[in-house]
Amino acid sequence: MKNRSRINCIGIESTAHTFSCSVVNDKGEILSEEREMYKSPDMGIIPNKCAEFLKNVKDKLIKKVITESGVKKFELIAFSQGPGMPLSLWVGANAAKEQAIIFNSPLIGVSHLIAHLEIGKLMCKAKDPVYILATGANTQIIAFEGEKYRIFGECLTIGIGNALDKFGREIGLGFPAGPKIEEFAKKGKYIELPYVVKGMDVEFSGIITKAIRLYKKGAKKEDLCFSLQETMFSMLTEVAERALAHTDKNELLLIGGVAANKRLIEMLETMCKERNAKFEVVPFKWSGDNAAMIAWTGILNYKKNKKSLELKKIEINPKWRIDA
Ligand code: AMP
Ligand code: MG
Repeated sequence: MKNRSRINCIGIESTAHTFSCSVVNDKGEILSEEREMYKSPDMGIIPNKCAEFLKNVKDKLIKKVITESGVKKFELIAFSQGPGMPLSLWVGANAAKEQAIIFNSPLIGVSHLIAHLEIGKLMCKAKDPVYILATGANTQIIAFEGEKYRIFGECLTIGIGNALDKFGREIGLGFPAGPKIEEFAKKGKYIELPYVVKGMDVEFSGIITKAIRLYKKGAKKEDLCFSLQETMFSMLTEVAERALAHTDKNELLLIGGVAANKRLIEMLETMCKERNAKFEVVPFKWSGDNAAMIAWTGILNYKKNKKSLELKKIEINPKWRIDA
């Protein structure tokens, strides 16, 4: 049969709260994808409870995804090897190993962060963008240069989503606070907050501390939400613009949960228009943790370097950096 896909890959994601499994082929078609998320409304994530949850749902989800894909033979198994929470990572690594044994196929470990970038690139048909990775735990400006992903700027102390959530927790918005902050911001006025850009890096922790202090002194929720967004997003926009100039690229791709924010999108869009650069945002469905991104990145890695992990020596990499 002509045009038939040569690699069907089962991907497995379990770096934190979500277990996801997906079948993707080497044409970039997602044949099936399922996910379930551990939730704890008031306690945050309790690592061993979370891992227990992931263990309980994994077999059901893997089976479902394989059936839905209609595929009988898998040429590759890929799993999220890091960064993430160790107990969660082990659930995925062991599940992937089981599938590699069942299908007698090579097993490959994938960087969860690179997978976020690759699925964005696939979905937006981007060629060679500068990426803004704006998730709960990460804020990084990244581009592919000299055969690897390089970080051009970042916030080392706290991720942008976690920073917004921290402020939200202090003022009683619950988790996740990002969407609520966006709503309040629509009715707010500007109050000055620290704008901290050092070279290509941004710093969000001082802004949050200041905003919390102002709230306790009686500043309005709406004004603080508006000012936080304006300040933090301007900082990101400034660094992203400089990364575009520095790398001489003319495409910007926004990735991660905070990519849902319309004001952030608007600012980046305006900046890109002024520079004649293309601006894209990853579709919402693929912005969160999912296994399609793991399967797809597994295929890309395997095509470059046809090496399988040794099943007896599988490791996880909880602190894996994107530029490692
Ligand atoms: P992720 O880590 O990529 O799953 O993204 C989760 C983070 O995105 C959380 O910190 C949320 O508060 C944040 N988030 C979700 N929606 C929005 C929004 N509309 N505006 C700002 N942040 C958001
Ligand atoms: Mg993630």
